[in-house]
Amino acid sequence: MNQWGGLLHEFAQWLDLRGVGDIVTLHEGNTPLLHAERLSERLGADVWLKLEGLNPTGSFKDRGMTMAITKAKAAGATTVICGSTGNTSAAAAAFAGKAGMGCVVLVPEGKIALGKLAQAIVYGADVVQIRGNFDRALNLARELTQHLPITIVNSINPDRIEGQKTGAFELIRTLGDAPDILSIPVGNAGNITAYWRGFTQWHFEGLAATLPKMWGFQAAGAAPIVLGHRVDEPETIATAIRIGNPASWVPALEAVDESHGAIRAVTDAELLDAYKFLAKNESVFCEPASAASVAGLIKYGVPKGSRVVCVLTGNGLKDPDTAVSTTATPTVVDATLEALLARLS
Ligand SMILES: *Cc1c(COP(=O)(O)O)cnc(C)c1O
Repeated sequence: MNQWGGLLHEFAQWLDLRGVGDIVTLHEGNTPLLHAERLSERLGADVWLKLEGLNPTGSFKDRGMTMAITKAKAAGATTVICGSTGNTSAAAAAFAGKAGMGCVVLVPEGKIALGKLAQAIVYGADVVQIRGNFDRALNLARELTQHLPITIVNSINPDRIEGQKTGAFELIRTLGDAPDILSIPVGNAGNITAYWRGFTQWHFEGLAATLPKMWGFQAAGAAPIVLGHRVDEPETIATAIRIGNPASWVPALEAVDESHGAIRAVTDAELLDAYKFLAKNESVFCEPASAASVAGLIKYGVPKGSRVVCVLTGNGLKDPDTAVSTTATPTVVDATLEALLARLS
């Protein structure tokens, strides 16, 4: 049987799995890389979309979580914790459940998308809403590990970044080399760090001839890396990147410097335009945060003819409120043929 068995089986050779017994997997990864015809035409480039929303819990966080939970289990942990803007909690809850471990999730009250909260609860996590933002939730999760026998699975856990680098491996495999540009939303900056690690690792091992430029995009109201200082009250409709003090700030800047890339900002309006463009023209329904990677290309442009991959980090179904509140409500007519004919002619 040669079935896809998840990232750790597939890429074991390039991951540190010493001491690991059972692998905890939901067969994450192996996500589609879709060619974006209309976006390519609009930008005069060759644009591809990495559909990370098709992972088992609907975001790329599953890549890091299979690794983090597998390693935590091997180390004898029985409970994990995370502070989360939503997707980390959904992934942590699912993989901890699969491993038979407990999971505590700290989320900012009222500031996470409905679908993500629903996931964490239904997967069986102990969800605690705090009266504070994500940055506070992460600090508290860290502090709790000093007081309780509990393992943190935020991206400050190095196993998360390790698992997430496999996204770069998949791109190289599918395209035959790295793209010219990797465009990616930036929140805590773990994913841009992870992709760069994956690209450089395979480049140095001779599996990719080139390295991409890393282009990261933050939401304008939550753009600490762009501004060069912490943002105490980050604000954006893209809750997954509503972060004022990124945990992987330094390695993200290194990735950008070494690759001759950039981290820039897009406004919520630009982000929502890209979100709708993708759904309407490419039939890809991603999260608002994910659309930052496309909004940035539209806003700043790309060198003609270059090959670009946008990482679409999460599934649009996670945030139905944004979808419904930013689009027109469908009209209501009487349940008669006449009324429908009138409406549709
Ligand atoms: C976590 C997340 C991000 C941001 O990734 P970082 O590693 O925190 O920079 C972007 N989009 C979605 C959908 C996410 O869940």
